[in-house]
Amino acid sequence: MIIDAVDVRRRYGETVALDGVSFSVDEGKIFALIGPNGAGKTTLVRALSGTTDAEGTVSVFGQSPADVARDRIGLLPQEFTPAGRLTAKELVEYYAGLYDESRDPEAVLDDVGLTDSADTFYENLSGGQKRRVCVGTALVNDPALLMLDEPTTGIDPTGRRDLWRLIEGLADGGTTVVLTTHYMEEAEELADHVGLLADGELVALGSPSELIGRYGGESRLLIEPEDGDAAVEALTDAGYEIISEDRRVAVPADATDIPSIVETLADAGVVYEGLTWRQPTLEDVYIELTGTDAASADGMTTEGWA
Ligand code: ATP
Repeated sequence: MIIDAVDVRRRYGETVALDGVSFSVDEGKIFALIGPNGAGKTTLVRALSGTTDAEGTVSVFGQSPADVARDRIGLLPQEFTPAGRLTAKELVEYYAGLYDESRDPEAVLDDVGLTDSADTFYENLSGGQKRRVCVGTALVNDPALLMLDEPTTGIDPTGRRDLWRLIEGLADGGTTVVLTTHYMEEAEELADHVGLLADGELVALGSPSELIGRYGGESRLLIEPEDGDAAVEALTDAGYEIISEDRRVAVPADATDIPSIVETLADAGVVYEGLTWRQPTLEDVYIELTGTDAASADGMTTEGWA
């Protein structure tokens, strides 16, 4: 076991940031922390990395986090703004120089997909490229434990997937990874275990499939009607339960239910632009347990979620 946290508590004055959090992470596993803004994710990462004190027990490599040798941990803070007039390569070299032993900076730049921008000033990189440089600075010491606080925020979908492959590769090589994210797809695809924090408490803990099985609900049909009220009325009259109604109306449905739902809509003259049938996802778990969607916590549009 690399991380063992038992009843971790942290207050900032009157604010309770962590209210008795317990979990553990084994070697080579990826643990994702999800939860609304202010849930305590960053505070927990800080408690694990030893950059803040907390009550309870936090053990990392069997030690108190502050005592762990620096080169064993890589930490990417949520807020990290390196010097703007250094190039991507100079920044990685600079951070590599802080350790007795470090990785080849060019290999690190290659890992984060920045070889072609190695000589660009940090300030002139795109938002996503900047974040990738920051991820690179957390990799220079070839850490056995990598903690990434929102590593892919601001990175475009392709770059995000590239970073997922990188993180998976590191974990396959034995690196233990703790990350926070507002992207449920990221947690679902990457993490071996997910912890959902809300108001400083871990309200759910398990593998993505366990959590989806427990809290995700049923498979569903998503209808994009021109007239939402008409669709809801037709479906309700026919005895269907409505899971949610937004831009899309969601109805619990097995694959075999689809024809009769389509018929119900047709009989009522409901016109729709799209029909999507899907299994529950971690996003549904998040909505079920927090009452909001994860996209809104990141300031993203809710378009596309249902
Ligand atoms: P986000 O998703 O917005 O990053 P988070 O889940 O990481 O949020 P934290 O940053 O850990 O949440 O904050 C938990 C709570 O502690 C919040 O109520 C926050 O306002 C408070 N808090 C965090 N850091 C401090 C601080 N340095 N001083 C006072 N209060 C703080």
